[in-house]
Amino acid sequence: MEKLKNYIDGILIAPFSNNYINSYDPATGEVFTMLPDSDNEDVELAVKSAENAFPHWSSLSAEKRAEYLLKIAGLIKNNIEKFASAESRDNGKPVQLARSVDIPRAVKNFEFFASAVTQFSSESHHTGTDILNYTLRQPIGIAGAISPWNLPLYLFSWKIAPALAAGNCVIAKPSEVTPLTAYMLSEICIEAGLPNGVLNIIHGYGHKAGSAIVSHPEVKAITFTGGTKTGKDIASVAGPMLKKISLELGGKNPVIIFNDCKYDEMLETTVRSSFTNQGEICLCGSRIFAEKDIYEKFKTDFVKKVKALKTGDPLNADTDIGAIVSKQHYEKILYYIDLALKDGGKILCGGNPVELKGRCKSGWFIEPTVIEGLDHNCRANQEEIFGPVVTIMPFENEEEVLQKANSTEYGLASVIWTNDLSKAHRVSANIHSGIVWVNCWMVRDLRTPFGGMKNSGVGREGGLEALRFFTESKNVCIKI
Ligand code: NAD
Repeated sequence: MEKLKNYIDGILIAPFSNNYINSYDPATGEVFTMLPDSDNEDVELAVKSAENAFPHWSSLSAEKRAEYLLKIAGLIKNNIEKFASAESRDNGKPVQLARSVDIPRAVKNFEFFASAVTQFSSESHHTGTDILNYTLRQPIGIAGAISPWNLPLYLFSWKIAPALAAGNCVIAKPSEVTPLTAYMLSEICIEAGLPNGVLNIIHGYGHKAGSAIVSHPEVKAITFTGGTKTGKDIASVAGPMLKKISLELGGKNPVIIFNDCKYDEMLETTVRSSFTNQGEICLCGSRIFAEKDIYEKFKTDFVKKVKALKTGDPLNADTDIGAIVSKQHYEKILYYIDLALKDGGKILCGGNPVELKGRCKSGWFIEPTVIEGLDHNCRANQEEIFGPVVTIMPFENEEEVLQKANSTEYGLASVIWTNDLSKAHRVSANIHSGIVWVNCWMVRDLRTPFGGMKNSGVGREGGLEALRFFTESKNVCIKI
């Protein structure tokens, strides 16, 4: 069985401990690769190599750094099929989704930040006639990047690309649940001739390798995407060390459907915003509020469409819903379905594990599930399930739906469906989320700020926000 390696100082290397972690194919339930169980020693070596690489890397022109990023983007693009099938096997997502979204967007991340850094500028302020202030934006040094399993390469590259573009060296850790495409990225970086030590990829558990990165005094900034509890743990270590932190955390996103929306478009998109990637996208809408007059029609049409979704082998081209990423997560989702039933919910469709035949007979699959009849305050409506489960609820008016939509601890994304322009602006302004989509979902412009409020995160990533995060600003004041 293949054993993955860490990527440190430009080479692929086994962990010091020589211990490995099993990595499962969620569609079959079988171990298909092993990843390093890294610890402090591996992180220490990575920090040393990043320290050595920093003076050269940070002194390169933005154009030169951009060339490396473009080389990496090009090599991923040339291997898109290989990356897509690896992502699908590792995560359980349909291969057609990895091919059309995950991998192309990872390529885009490198391309976008290669271009963005060459456009990055800083301010100057004239004070009176004889004073000039200008701001230098200089790389921080070594940045730590820690990412989750749901969009493995997509989110990994979302952090690495801006950090490198801004002139930092990076120590990055992918999720131990989905290490494969991060490993393939290290092979690509070697092929691209990225100077040794500029990017180091360490595999392993969060509480060992991850926390060694977070607590290392030479790692000056931490960008993290993952669960809210982990984010709080990381903040409790990085905060007192006065590190820069950017936290992209969990969500419980509302979808608000008003009577006056473009119905067919809303219906089509709401199926996607509920169940794409088995509902394992932090931006998926999991609480659907439909205005009273449209509720029954929406319920009937929505359930019909959801029942038509095909759950199956992620490697089949016609599969809509693939496997749940791990046994542990599969059990968590089933637990919440059960909880919803106990709290008085009625399952309109789904609600059960799916047993497939052949290759996938031992895989972790759950039917796309729609539940109604729950109070907006119950646990299934307040806590993040992060699976193919949505609840639907009717509402009477704007005030009521805003109150219910805003009632959770989270504030990542929301979706509003209406043709009334004033209402769209009003609700957008009053909803508690960092990202609002009106009459669309998952449309991304990489220049826009990305992130959540409340327990969904701290700081924003994307575009200039990311380049600002990965640089230290220094004001120079000159008397002329
Ligand atoms: P997780 O928090 O369990 O793990 C995320 C990463 O953190 C992994 O690489 C893990 O190894 C590492 N980690 C765990 N404990 C650590 C510690 N103490 N110190 C340092 N690193 C540690 O999250 P997950 O289960 O992999 O991902 C799912 C979660 O991610 C969901 O809550 C989802 O909403 C969230 N998410 C948020 C966004 C966003 O942009 N806001 C995007 C995707 C996923």
